[in-house]
Amino acid sequence: EQAGLVKYFDRSDARKMLKERKYDGYKNYYGVDLLVAGSAQYKGAALLATKGAVASGAGIVHLSSAKEVVDIMPLYLPEAISEIRPGSYSREMLKKFDAICIGPGMGLDMDAYHCFIDVIENSTCPLIIDADGLTILSNNLELLDRQQRPIILTPHLGEFKRLCDFSGDDQLTEVAINFAKEHHCILVLKGPHTLVTDGKHSYKNASGNKAMAVGGMGDTLAGMMTAFLGGHYQAIEAAILAVYIHGFTGDLIARDHYTVLPEELSKMIPHAMSLIG
Ligand code: AMP
Ligand code: MG
Repeated sequence: EQAGLVKYFDRSDARKMLKERKYDGYKNYYGVDLLVAGSAQYKGAALLATKGAVASGAGIVHLSSAKEVVDIMPLYLPEAISEIRPGSYSREMLKKFDAICIGPGMGLDMDAYHCFIDVIENSTCPLIIDADGLTILSNNLELLDRQQRPIILTPHLGEFKRLCDFSGDDQLTEVAINFAKEHHCILVLKGPHTLVTDGKHSYKNASGNKAMAVGGMGDTLAGMMTAFLGGHYQAIEAAILAVYIHGFTGDLIARDHYTVLPEELSKMIPHAMSLIG
């Protein structure tokens, strides 16, 4: 495959990539994942991301969040383990995780900033950076260049523009591919036909629709991707699969619904995955 050539990723690609559950699989086998998400102000982002992860087959999902979120979490999602965000994270606390996602609704205050730096510096597993995490990262891009593990960034266009300066007439796809190449990361540039690129191989998503343009949809995607990243997929596969299945599930719902609500999408993920596999 030629560098720079962008291939569409469709249902048959997803079918080939999606692994069957093992007959003797145990919860730990499917990943112990951590989402650092939500704040007193943005409680929903934490809930939606965690739902996305649980529904996509993660073995055990931990949520690290504000007290306001942790207090209500078991009522909405008893499957997850939620803990109040500590003042700092040690290597010891983070080493048990197979994948981490940081950013959805975490806010941009000093606490969020310190938490972000702490998690990046003290974890070694594959990592997804989304939403507020991307905004914090955009002022600290050198952090990215020091990383020795798979990193996935999931910006929408506005977030990507904060990460990377480019003029109006630059080709967006090319800029995104170059960014991934330069910073040795996987870039998921979200929108209609989300682009997934590691700088060498690039894919555009064939699934998804306009009924999905509602708040919280990206938080759901981030959670889904975390589940795959912690569950024995290569980082690029985790990104592609999550993006495809997110859109595919949205397409199933949009057949007879005017809008697709993120919570409804998460509810439908297990069924959608059974149709693909
Ligand atoms: P965010 O902006 O972080 O909430 O992410 C929005 C999510 O919804 C991304 O996964 C987008 O690809 C998806 N999405 C939003 N609008 C559309 C659209 N018009 N067509 C297809 N997907 C969309
Ligand atoms: Mg978002």
